[in-house]
Amino acid sequence: MQVIRLHALRDNYIFLLHDIQQNIAAVVDPAEAKPVLKKLDQLSVELVAIFNTHHHSDHVGANLKLMQKFPNVKVYGGAGDKGRIPGQQVFLQQGDRIKFANRIGEVIFVPGHTRAHIAYYFPPEKPGDMGELFCGDTLFAGGCGRLFEGTPKQMVDSLSKLAALPDNTRVWCAHEYTLKNLQFALTVDKDNTELQNRYLQVQASRKRGEATIPSMLGIEKHTNPFLRFSQPALQLVAKSQDPVQTFARLRGMKDKF
Ligand code: ZN
Ligand code: FE
Repeated sequence: MQVIRLHALRDNYIFLLHDIQQNIAAVVDPAEAKPVLKKLDQLSVELVAIFNTHHHSDHVGANLKLMQKFPNVKVYGGAGDKGRIPGQQVFLQQGDRIKFANRIGEVIFVPGHTRAHIAYYFPPEKPGDMGELFCGDTLFAGGCGRLFEGTPKQMVDSLSKLAALPDNTRVWCAHEYTLKNLQFALTVDKDNTELQNRYLQVQASRKRGEATIPSMLGIEKHTNPFLRFSQPALQLVAKSQDPVQTFARLRGMKDKF
């Protein structure tokens, strides 16, 4: 399974999964139809699945158009998004399994950004390979999604589930927010040298016009303040020793950053 990153709208990414053997494709969070149709055409491949992480329009905007072009496509989303994801046919819960070509993906329920948000995790095919995590607007490179429909406690639980995955997991998040996220991270985790180095690398990539997605989960665990709510340095900044309160205060500071 090859993952192809497509740009959409202002700063969204759509991910196209391509299985070369069976010559089929799936798409994660199609914000727009145009870049997806163009790539499918280039590859001359059939779209068999749409995997949505949550109901926001910048993640489901092209569902209906793609269904028109590919009447057999299956549309997946969280069970709690029933009625909110256009064309949804499959209603997924924590622990459900999905199949794409020869790969089995695992559904992780990650409420917080929205109340029904899910992530899709494809474990590595063989030892030493990377896993693939499609986490929508829950975990970002260097940051996390805003809390629109969930509580800090829910988001801490959700992010903890993602952080429990292996370091060697590629994080395919849905927005290019990394530079701004790391600028904020540096204000709350000043002495983190790994974060300082990451910031310089990301700054250079963005200057060259390169995408910073995917990121690696191992790097996120060391540099993303929204996975580091149990670290003394961040608890000191948040003036709390409670992980959930620390997370909530950091999220509050980021909202105003
Ligand atoms: Zn969203
Ligand atoms: Fe979004």
